[in-house]
Amino acid sequence: MSEKDSPAAPKPGTPPLKLPSYKKASRLTHPQNTVIPLGPYAIGGDEFVIMAGPCSVEADPQMLGTAWEVKIGGAHIIRGGAFKPRSSPYSFQGLAEEGLKMLSKARELTGLGIVTEVMDSSDVDLVESYADIIQVGARNSQNFSLLKRLSKCQKPILLKRGLMNTVDELLSSAEYILAGGNEQVILCERGIRTFEPSTRNTLDLSSILTIKEKSHLPVIVDPSHASGKAHYVAPLSRAALAVGADGLMIEVHCAPESALCDGEESIEPGQFRDLMVNLAELAPAFGRRISTLTPELLAQNQR
Ligand code: PEP
Ligand code: MN
Repeated sequence: MSEKDSPAAPKPGTPPLKLPSYKKASRLTHPQNTVIPLGPYAIGGDEFVIMAGPCSVEADPQMLGTAWEVKIGGAHIIRGGAFKPRSSPYSFQGLAEEGLKMLSKARELTGLGIVTEVMDSSDVDLVESYADIIQVGARNSQNFSLLKRLSKCQKPILLKRGLMNTVDELLSSAEYILAGGNEQVILCERGIRTFEPSTRNTLDLSSILTIKEKSHLPVIVDPSHASGKAHYVAPLSRAALAVGADGLMIEVHCAPESALCDGEESIEPGQFRDLMVNLAELAPAFGRRISTLTPELLAQNQR
């Protein structure tokens, strides 16, 4: 979103507006969009930032292979969970520090930054020592002690919307991080729980408009967890670009059928490359660019 799309500052003499409880996250106290540097790029400006990778870090070859694939596809950041919030205690729980080391190796080889989830305050130091962006998952979106702890981190925080949270509740969660001193918060719409059973969650695309109206913080969309269906990911990604999101978080797996987590919503590297070419072509119509897709890479992937 360009500066001209941001609401203008109030005219002198206008009576003071009642501030919401999320003062720092509110656009009333900070009219300009927050732009967060991410290595050579930034989120919240013209760049449409793509975070992509497997749901969870499973093994060295899987992580490295997928990291290369998403790099070639034009991603800015690699995703992968080493601490996994699973509904069942018997499901794969993640590789913890071993997984963080695999992510770190993938960063060394590809040059891409890492976003990975932290679930517990006691792991924040460990995760911060590896991650470039620390993710708070939907299930921890209102874990206030974790949010307070993350407010003391030096790294940007990717805060996902809780399954049952309103936009105001999401902004109040962001406020915990901002109020404690960490101003680098990226929001993520990943679908909410509704009465509609045809998708895993219901992607609330209008929340992007509400968030942009109420807040200056960047916001991305996760079409993978929102839909739970790999073949919905591309159309929902295009919709997210069109509605004004600042980027996407997409699950990509080299062999979705054997993924240890969320295979049914993971797209394959070829599908990711095609989607990225498509998004790079569409982006200028919405005032965005995907500069990781250099003309050479674009020509190569268009084939
Ligand atoms: C994830 O991104 O791996 C994840 C678990 O997502 P969510 O918290 O949105 O369910
Ligand atoms: Mn997942």
